[in-house]
Amino acid sequence: MEDTIFDKILRGEIPSEKVYEDEVVYAFKDINPVAPVHVLVIPKSKLEKFSDFEDLSSLEVGNFIKKVSIVAKELGLKEDGYRVVFNNGRDGGQEVNYLHAHILGGKKLSFSRL
Ligand code: 5GP
Repeated sequence: MEDTIFDKILRGEIPSEKVYEDEVVYAFKDINPVAPVHVLVIPKSKLEKFSDFEDLSSLEVGNFIKKVSIVAKELGLKEDGYRVVFNNGRDGGQEVNYLHAHILGGKKLSFSRL
């Protein structure tokens, strides 16, 4: 697997603004935020993209999704709401080949039909 910028962030070789960490996930602020709150959540056990979830057990997938929900709560977004985005592959606009959930919030987000 490609050694991505997120591998380097997880190893502490590149600085990041950590907002949450436990044994399963690492969450940090996006360097180029598109909303007042824009956080990326990555699994410590690497997957390259969302479609790799098919190789995991339902429990493992559920654990990751649950952590994303917990991070959003820790960020204070639970009451007003937020958006979770997974960009998957080329057509999905994925730039970094390390699976990550975007948590977006802090304002009422619009939805473009592209
Ligand atoms: P993708 O397009 O792959 O779903 O999203 C990648 C995200 O990673 C982008 O929103 C981009 O701003 C963010 N990003 C890229 N390089 C870095 C970095 O070095 N540090 C941080 N914190 N975010 C990054």
